[in-house]
Amino acid sequence: MGRILKYSKQRDLVLKTLQENVVHPTADFVYAKAKEHNPNISLATVYRNLNQLVESGDIKKINGLDNMAHFDHNTHKHFHFICTKCGKIFDMPYDIVPELNTKPAEQKGLIIESYDISFHGICPDCRDNH
Ligand SMILES: [Zn+2]
Ligand SMILES: [Zn+2]
Repeated sequence: MGRILKYSKQRDLVLKTLQENVVHPTADFVYAKAKEHNPNISLATVYRNLNQLVESGDIKKINGLDNMAHFDHNTHKHFHFICTKCGKIFDMPYDIVPELNTKPAEQKGLIIESYDISFHGICPDCRDNH
């Protein structure tokens, strides 16, 4: 975990908004929701607070799902499943990839610090509404 952030009302709102919307929202989505509670909050403030929360380890930033950065209140190790039809992002348990073999990269002198794995496919809603 990173450093402890000083309490900020706006950041608290940003974090709560993220926790109430467990859909891995983008900053724009968090902004739209946070604005319902605090009409004075600006997009720049939402961005700044999201980034501070990422730095402090309270939330995670997910890159590489599409061309937007998404934010995740779930900081436990897990993978993501993105529906190619509706774009919703689901959490997948970490142990779905039980033996991720990172040894070959280490033998080539590459030090792995982290990795992002995402699965792509059709979610149950889209499958049923076929
Ligand atoms: Zn879907
Ligand atoms: Zn997640």
